Amino acid sequence: MISVEEALARLFALVPAPQSETVPLAEAGGRVLLHPQAARLTQPPFDASAMDGYAVIAAEVRPGATLQVVGEAAAGRAFDGRVAAGQAVRIFTGAPVPPGATRIVLQEDVTREGDVITLGEVGGGPHIRPAGGDFAAGDLLQAPRRLGPADIALLAAMNIPAVPVARRPSVAIISTGNELVAPGETPGPDQIIASNALGLAAMVAREGALPRLLPIARDDAASLGVVLDLAAGADLVLTIGGASVGDHDIVAQVAQSRGIDLAFHKVAMRPGKPLMAGRMDGAMMVGLPGNPVSALVCGEVFVMPVLRAMQGLPAGPAARKPARLGGHLDANGGRTHFLRARTDGDTVTPFARQDSALLSVLSAANCLVMRPPHDPARAIGDLVEILPI
Ligand code: AMP
Ligand code: MG
Repeated sequence: MISVEEALARLFALVPAPQSETVPLAEAGGRVLLHPQAARLTQPPFDASAMDGYAVIAAEVRPGATLQVVGEAAAGRAFDGRVAAGQAVRIFTGAPVPPGATRIVLQEDVTREGDVITLGEVGGGPHIRPAGGDFAAGDLLQAPRRLGPADIALLAAMNIPAVPVARRPSVAIISTGNELVAPGETPGPDQIIASNALGLAAMVAREGALPRLLPIARDDAASLGVVLDLAAGADLVLTIGGASVGDHDIVAQVAQSRGIDLAFHKVAMRPGKPLMAGRMDGAMMVGLPGNPVSALVCGEVFVMPVLRAMQGLPAGPAARKPARLGGHLDANGGRTHFLRARTDGDTVTPFARQDSALLSVLSAANCLVMRPPHDPARAIGDLVEILPI
């Protein structure tokens, strides 16, 4: 049995290089930019007024000074001339500062009669945004990065209408089990709803990939084979359940018969021990445990980092941070334990019930406490690592 860290390293080794596609900016939000982008222009392109007021010569600014207003500059309409000694130009936010002017005085700091202004007490300044103050032509937006709204606005301002982003990985999701029916159907007396697949699909979509929910496979090789055939073309195939060694656990068996290049089978973790992964039929394959919490915890710990790496983001574990325990914990056994917990501020309190079938507890949790193997007993106030979910 390998460690969580080793399993993650072996998974990253299976990840193919991201494929690039060019999309218009309007469709690029949330996608991963693959290559740095150079600004095609300078912003602001000219010295621009940051305020509504008057463009003047800074050396002439003192209380009581009078200046002749010789014209107007508005956003999109520059003043066609210079500001000479004794002169001012009426100016609005975003307008080019006319040559000669070196300062903007705010409109509330002057009184105007006809075309003459008298300055009052003038503070602050110069209220001019210098050309190139935001960015200059050739300045880079670095990659890889997931493009947020501010990045999209920046790229637009740089006049870059389309960008190279990672193609969204296609993720086939297969539930296995004779007891399972799809949500919305009426389960028989010995049946339950296949819930994990939809939870995983939501997780996959959150990470920018395209989930493909396939039909539920029965617990026999022929049925699983048919559904695996439907997964053709996926970058990643996720199976759920049938991953341990019980009588009806056929995922490993079928994967072997299809010639899987196995990276590992079983990880020293709780929940989620019967995790397997490899390359099969030209795709990455991860066999997740069937218990709902196990499947979703393995999703957070392994599948999400894999999807990020598939999109060209750095290969690394899910983000963690320290928090102080709000309750006592007994010594941990030999496997990494992910406890369902709630964090508030810098305190974290694990739930009393940790059974890996309890979706209601996972839904109430907002983090997992990650305990290394053989972690000693912990007292209230001790620092532990948490993984926000
Ligand atoms: P298995 O790994 O197939 O032995 O499944 C372990 C447990 O998880 C069993 O109680 C299954 O009924 C349950 N289970 C398996 N797959 C799913 C699924 N897709 N949704 C909800 N429960 C599942
Ligand atoms: Mg099963």
